[in-house]
Amino acid sequence: MKRLLNRFLKLMDSKEEEKFYYIRVERNDKCYCDSGKKYKSCHFPEHQKKSKLAVKKINELTGEQSIKILSVKRLRKEHYRVKSNLIG
Ligand SMILES: [Zn+2]
Repeated sequence: MKRLLNRFLKLMDSKEEEKFYYIRVERNDKCYCDSGKKYKSCHFPEHQKKSKLAVKKINELTGEQSIKILSVKRLRKEHYRVKSNLIG
């Protein structure tokens, strides 16, 4: 039991510098660029062409948010970080 706990703590430790998660910018959300348009009729078509998606990167410790444009491939790889912004 103690060994398991130690292993768990080690794991937590190694992830110390990566405490953040992503929230997808949904197509019907307002675009992050402040155009006032929805994402789907603003930057989304451009991103789609390049197989990219806009996400909000949220720092779990500070709550600090930043917009990232990431490739779909990368988001699939980091799917465990992606949280839906839909409640429920
Ligand atoms: Zn835009």
